[in-house]
Amino acid sequence: MTEPLRNLDIEELVRLDTAHHLHPFTDYKALAAEGGSRIITRAEGVYLYDGHNNKIIDGMAGLWCVNVGYGRDDLAELAMQQMKVLPYYNTFFKTATAPSIELAAKVASKLPANFNHVFFANSGSEANDTQLRMVHHYWQCAGQPEKRFVISRENAYHGSTVAGASLGGMGPMHKQGGKLIPTIHHVMQPYWYKLGGDMTPEEFGLAAAKSLEDKILELGPENVGAFIGEPIQGAGGVIIPPSTYWPEINRICKKYDILLICDEVICGFGRTGNWFGLETFGIEPDLITMAKGLSSGYLPIAATGVSDRVANTIIENGGEFYHGYTYSGHPVACAVALRNIEIMEEEKLVENTRDVAGPHLAKRLAELADHPLVGEVRSVGLIGAIELVKDKKTRERFDPLGKVGTMCRDHFFKRNAIMRACGDTMVLSPPLVITPAEIDALIDVAKECIDATAKDIG
Ligand code: PLP
Repeated sequence: MTEPLRNLDIEELVRLDTAHHLHPFTDYKALAAEGGSRIITRAEGVYLYDGHNNKIIDGMAGLWCVNVGYGRDDLAELAMQQMKVLPYYNTFFKTATAPSIELAAKVASKLPANFNHVFFANSGSEANDTQLRMVHHYWQCAGQPEKRFVISRENAYHGSTVAGASLGGMGPMHKQGGKLIPTIHHVMQPYWYKLGGDMTPEEFGLAAAKSLEDKILELGPENVGAFIGEPIQGAGGVIIPPSTYWPEINRICKKYDILLICDEVICGFGRTGNWFGLETFGIEPDLITMAKGLSSGYLPIAATGVSDRVANTIIENGGEFYHGYTYSGHPVACAVALRNIEIMEEEKLVENTRDVAGPHLAKRLAELADHPLVGEVRSVGLIGAIELVKDKKTRERFDPLGKVGTMCRDHFFKRNAIMRACGDTMVLSPPLVITPAEIDALIDVAKECIDATAKDIG
């Protein structure tokens, strides 16, 4: 598919969009004042095309999700075949469909050896809602229903549903009524560049982990059921934890008998150069959240990976688990996700991320580190960040945070490239099929955009 499905009147679409469509995470007034949305009409490989036929390099794989790249005909054809054979049936009340069973087995085969079960949802947010309910159900089944507190981290992103936003640690979301679940608490994030002060990254990793231990002791270990964290905080600005952080978190969770939930929604399916971020950082979870790269965004699907400890307890002692979504294990989404994983295997996209594309990105990002506006560059596999600061020496940030990042992002936009601004941190997470030459193009544009931003702020 190289052309849009029908002739589009782009100006009319922009008008209708502004008149009728409330977008997620958008300042509506500002968008209207800027003339409305850019309409994306088609895509191929790592490139998007807009309504004016501009070819745009997508440094974000959509929203960190299109791992196998755009324009995969076999995924489209498979979806069509599955729709013809069985477009829908559910997995409630003792029924199942072949794609949902096959995908469950496939995903389990990719997870650590002590994970043999998955529970399907449609989005990362829903899968994290499932986590919360699973944690409460587990502790009830285990005879410790008082273990109801769940600890997360500041600046985390775990989704936009009530549970997702409450688990997340995003201040602006909480201010808009996003933190509605009072049993969820937040501790320090492992953000060495911002919070590490004079400590080495290793010292700071231990200090950040200690904030979890302190909170557990404050709440009482007998009241704490779980800790949730992303291997790398993505939407929070690609916060890559120091090497000491996750091993210490493992130790603390084990010591106080607290379930560890690893939110792999961004890091899962190859992003960090392993199938899961937990392998990259040595995380030993009891529950795993997956979405995005599971289907490369071709259809909405998510999953909660459940360890034997949790699964066996709820199977043996739980009776019916009163939880599920109409589209849990949707056959078309499952068929597409299964083939998506096979494509990743056949094309060795994880290995390519680890051995070729990831190291190339790290090398090219390092060239930007000396720029006066750049405080730090960091990456693991194909997820990276360029942190823009007011003063490189003191690490002083711009005030208000986010203005300079937005200016820089707009420069990308004008140059037909996409990188996202998280505050003043420019982040990237391209499709895993990106070639070294395409990485070069992206980083060349990044340099131009950072120069242009530096010029704007004088
Ligand atoms: N968890 C993490 C780590 C995420 O990055 C996201 C989305 O960006 C979510 C959960 C929520 O996923 P969704 O947008 O599919 O609900």
